[in-house]
Amino acid sequence: MDINNLTIETVRTAIAVGKTTATATAEAHYAHIAEKDGEINSYLALSRERALAQAAKVDEMAAKGEALPPLAGVPIGIKDVLAMRGAPATAGSLILKGYRPPYDATTVKRLEAAGAVLLGKLNCDEFAMGSSNENSAYGPVKNPRALDRVPGGSSGGSAAAVAADFAVATLGTDTGGSIRQPAAFCGVVGLLPTYGRVSRYGLIAFASSLDRVGPLTKNVQDAATLLHVLAGHDEMDATSSERPVADYVGALDKPVAGLRIGVPAEYFGDGLDAEIRAATDRVLASLKTAGCIIKPVSLPHTKYAIPTYYVIATAEASSNLSRFDGVRYGLRDSEAKTLSEMFRKTRDAGFGAEVKRRILLGTYALSAGYYDAYYRKAQQVRTLLTRDFLAAFHEVDALVTPMTPTPPFKLGEKTDDPVQMYLEDIYSVAASLAGICGVSVPCGSTKTGLPIGVQIMGGHFEEQTVLRVAQAVEMGQRST
Ligand code: GLN
Repeated sequence: MDINNLTIETVRTAIAVGKTTATATAEAHYAHIAEKDGEINSYLALSRERALAQAAKVDEMAAKGEALPPLAGVPIGIKDVLAMRGAPATAGSLILKGYRPPYDATTVKRLEAAGAVLLGKLNCDEFAMGSSNENSAYGPVKNPRALDRVPGGSSGGSAAAVAADFAVATLGTDTGGSIRQPAAFCGVVGLLPTYGRVSRYGLIAFASSLDRVGPLTKNVQDAATLLHVLAGHDEMDATSSERPVADYVGALDKPVAGLRIGVPAEYFGDGLDAEIRAATDRVLASLKTAGCIIKPVSLPHTKYAIPTYYVIATAEASSNLSRFDGVRYGLRDSEAKTLSEMFRKTRDAGFGAEVKRRILLGTYALSAGYYDAYYRKAQQVRTLLTRDFLAAFHEVDALVTPMTPTPPFKLGEKTDDPVQMYLEDIYSVAASLAGICGVSVPCGSTKTGLPIGVQIMGGHFEEQTVLRVAQAVEMGQRST
């Protein structure tokens, strides 16, 4: 079976008409993973038994001629920060080695209820902290489009698996760019749903006010199909929204003519790679040809987005990660003589350098005497950043910007300089802080063949609009 470039629709239809089976599709993916993933390192664990049991169920339905659910037999990989009952959940960390959650994340449950075949757990930066997947305790992931380059992070395994056809689609998480940036680096589509649109239940928390779950796919239509399955209220997540779920797939058929597209000057400043700038300009020109109205806008507080994000995200992380103490999950130092020594030694051995750096930064930002100067101030600036977007969305329907300042960089190139690595997130963290939705769509490549992504951002719960623009961008790419 040729599994290159399979999409949700092609798999589902092939199974429905009896051209293939869910079992054969899953087996073909596992064979491809066995052959090629040794080099890429995208999967940390395979869930063969569960996947094949689900595939058999789908095949039985197809054999009986029953109507198939929307993801029938579609092989999907799950980022290793989401719980799958009985499967390892490491979050890319040593401290969770051996931990197997006794329950499924809501997103995992919803995928399976829609017929998806879940292949396994995907590599990521430790606790989703990173922009290159080099912070994983289980080794870096390579970019399938250029093996000497990073796939982006933290959902590097999720993006690489889609790009390498190790899954038709994957779930990633995005706290400050972790779905969108790796999607851009690997040449796939990555969707950041509005905060509250998709349940976080069963997600190992990094920064709870920022964490979101979303799909990485081979095209925009698959992102819309998956969002439809994933979205909706969940009583297990108090921050999940009760707003009705929109018709995301239907929205793709609406023409973009007449849509107002904002271009924020702050996203085109110093440090933006010339080829990425040119590719973004080409996208804007093609949207104009399609009848969009292109308008310059300003998001004046953008320059504060990175420092604000790195105060809030680390503060929340320092609190969330306090639960990993050797008592309840995974690793435990067995030599320690006292309880506090056990906590200390377990955390020292279990957390990697970047995670420790963030726990220290975050604890400092929350400490008495510094709380007002850092954490409270960051929350105030977060409000200003959000207001920038709300004001812009009075004038325009969506914003188009570069997704990353540079193309995928070389493995090891930025590991010695955390600030350089944080600057990778310059175009992604503002949307994270504001809770708005966004998507990264492939828009060509550099002269040396490295993928480029363009970002489309929309207001809260405006996924139909960003997906509609994304679809137009994707169609523009096909016709050039
Ligand atoms: N690169 C950002 C960070 O390291 C974003 C990570 C994420 O979105 N999970 O915090």
